[in-house]
Amino acid sequence: MINSVGYRRVSKNRPCSICGKPDWCSTTATETISFCARSTTNADRISPHGWGVFYDHDPGLQFARPFRPIPARKKFAHSPALAPPEIRDRVYRKLIELSPASSSDKIVCGRGGLRDRGVLDHANYGSFPKTVRGRDALVGKLVQAFAGDRALFPLSFSGVPGFWRDEDGETRLGSRKDSVEDLMLIPFIGFDGRIRACQIRFMKFVSNRSGRYIWLSSSNEQTGCGSGAPLHHACPHSASNEPVLVTEGALKAATAQRFLIDRYVVGNSGVATSHREIIGTARGRPLEIAFDLDSFTNPHVARALAALVRLRYSDQASFGYGDGVRIVVWDGSMKGIDEALLAQVPLLHLSVPEWLKRLSPKCLGEATRQLAPLTQ
Ligand SMILES: [Zn+2]
Repeated sequence: MINSVGYRRVSKNRPCSICGKPDWCSTTATETISFCARSTTNADRISPHGWGVFYDHDPGLQFARPFRPIPARKKFAHSPALAPPEIRDRVYRKLIELSPASSSDKIVCGRGGLRDRGVLDHANYGSFPKTVRGRDALVGKLVQAFAGDRALFPLSFSGVPGFWRDEDGETRLGSRKDSVEDLMLIPFIGFDGRIRACQIRFMKFVSNRSGRYIWLSSSNEQTGCGSGAPLHHACPHSASNEPVLVTEGALKAATAQRFLIDRYVVGNSGVATSHREIIGTARGRPLEIAFDLDSFTNPHVARALAALVRLRYSDQASFGYGDGVRIVVWDGSMKGIDEALLAQVPLLHLSVPEWLKRLSPKCLGEATRQLAPLTQ
C-alpha cells in the first residue's frame, strides 16, 4: 500500500530490508529509504519516534547478493567498550529487581504478555519505564543501590548498553523520548548465566502483526554503546550434550525450553544474527532450527536460515563431526514454535533437503544460492 506522500508499508511479499519482517516498518515508494521499527543498528539517523532510518538501500540488490551481515558504520569514533559481563549482569539484575514486570498489568496479563505466551517465571522480566522522568528516577535508585559499590562503576555505568551520560555529566538510561506504550524488559543471558544485554518489547497489541522488539541500547549517544546482539541461553547450566534448538527471541526460547526439557534452547534477536555463537554452542551436538514458519515464504528468512546451515556444514567439516541439522516445523496456522507448543500440535523435524523441497520458488532461489558453494 502506497500513501499520498509515497511511503509504502512492508508486507509479506516485500519484507523490511533491514530486519526482514513483514510488518511495522516502511520504505519510500522507490525503496531508497527504509524506516525500520525494530533496528537502529548502523542507521543513518534515528527518527523522532525512535525508528532507524537507512538511506540508499536497494532490497532487490541485497537479496541478489550472498548473505553478509551489514557492515558496521561506526557513528561515534570513541564509544566505550562493553563493560565486562559480570558488571552488565549486576546492573541489569538490579534494574529488573527495582522495576519488575509485575508492576505492569499489560506486561503480565496483556495480549502478547508473559501469561499469554506461557512464560511462568515473571520475576526474570522487567518493566522499563515509559517516560524519561521514570527512567531518571530508576537510575537514581540504581545509583543508590550500588552506593557501597562505587568502585565498580567509576565511569557511571559506562559500557552498559542503554546507559549514557548527558551534557551535564548525569547518567541517563534509554532514549530521550517518552513512550506511550508499556515496555517489557527482556534479558538476554549468556552461556555462563550472566545477562549480556536486554531487549524492549512494545506492548501495544495490533492484530495480525508480530510484536515489536528493539535492543536496550545507547549507541545513538556519544557516551553510550550498542547491545552487541548476543545470543540468549534459556537454561545455561543444563547438560552439555543435549541437542541445541534455536528459535527467535528470548521469550520464545523460554516457552520452548519449558516444553522441550531435553533440548538446550537458545534464542537469537533475529534470523540473521548470532550465527557464529549458535554454531559454536551446537558444535558436536545435533542442531534444530525452529525459526518462525515464514522461512517457506519470506526470502529474507530462507536466506538467513540457509546461511546458518552453510556455517554449520563448514563447522562440521572443520571439527570433524557428523550431520545432525534439522529444521523444525509444525501446523502452518501457527507462526512461532511457542504457539505450536502451547497448542500441543506435533513438531516435525525436516532434513535440509526435505526443507528445500517445501520452499516457495523465490525462497528456494535464496536458499540454494547460500548453499551452492557446498554442493558444487
Ligand atoms: Zn524493519
